[in-house]
Amino acid sequence: MKPAAFDYHRPTTLDEALDRLAEEGGEAKPLAGGQSLIPAMNFRLARPAVLVDLNWLTELAYIRSDAEGLRIGAMTRQRSVETSDLARRAAPLVHEALPFIAHAQIRNRGTIGGSIAHADPAAELPAVTLALGATFRAQSRAGARAIAADAFFTGLFTTALAPEELLVEIVVPPFPPASGWAFTEMARRHGDYALAGVAAVVTLDSDGRCRAARIALLSVGDGPVLARAAAALLEAQVPTPELIRAAADRVSQDIDPPGDIHASAAYRRHLSGVLTRRGLTRAFERARGAA
Ligand code: FAD
Repeated sequence: MKPAAFDYHRPTTLDEALDRLAEEGGEAKPLAGGQSLIPAMNFRLARPAVLVDLNWLTELAYIRSDAEGLRIGAMTRQRSVETSDLARRAAPLVHEALPFIAHAQIRNRGTIGGSIAHADPAAELPAVTLALGATFRAQSRAGARAIAADAFFTGLFTTALAPEELLVEIVVPPFPPASGWAFTEMARRHGDYALAGVAAVVTLDSDGRCRAARIALLSVGDGPVLARAAAALLEAQVPTPELIRAAADRVSQDIDPPGDIHASAAYRRHLSGVLTRRGLTRAFERARGAA
């Protein structure tokens, strides 16, 4: 399959890329790793009139940390974060989830920013960054703004980014003391998109009660799904196996997953409960270890 005709621009600075996107007035699409956009163009599911290639913007490829947390430039390859010691220490949940994304060859090209901006409901990084309460920095000719993950994912393959706006940086906040995390998913084969998956982050009080919990699911809705009611069940309680099971049951009840040729809605609902139970159990074990 071949894509429809398009114009191609290759800016070498962020300013140049933002100028080009502003000039094209919504007709242009940024090209990052191309691992989702190019197949969509080849199948003619996407027909952008103009591509603005971000691959020469080396200023958007970095991994740094400061008081606000781990900063990952949008054009950082998924594989670079996977192999980064700094990312493993500062954002272990991101690090744990990365090997579940496709295969190493795809992660060599696919970018952190591309995966988040694409907002595939079956993708790992949107759910992981939602569980972490990450912040996304966006930039356009009109200026820069920070968007909380809770407000970023607005629907199926849809985000709060304007057409002429670029995602430039992902900021993962540091964990408070006594925090634990876990990522778990089920796919038919390793590297396939998950039938369902769960990212969990929990924090304990000094008396062993749950101070805060965030549970985000993938492949069960139009985008990553934050299980607020299940998390609320855990807060201020001692996380016993019974309580964790009750929270997992609540996740199964509350979600409205799709059914397709890979899994029925009922199976995804069941699987999400099982994965939530496993994920929370692991996250609380880690939190106790860190306390
Ligand atoms: P691109 O494909 O270049 O772009 C994707 C979209 O995001 C486009 O609309 C583009 O305009 C937009 N975009 C990109 N960067 C920016 C930016 N900085 N600002 C604003 N908009 C931007 N992903 C998973 O999560 N899990 C999987 O299991 C998985 N399996 C895969 C299996 C195969 C066989 C393939 C080919 C891909 C798979 N992927 C999977 C997708 C892969 O992770 C992609 O890399 C990712 O979804 C998109 O990142 P990219 O850098 O390739 O973005």
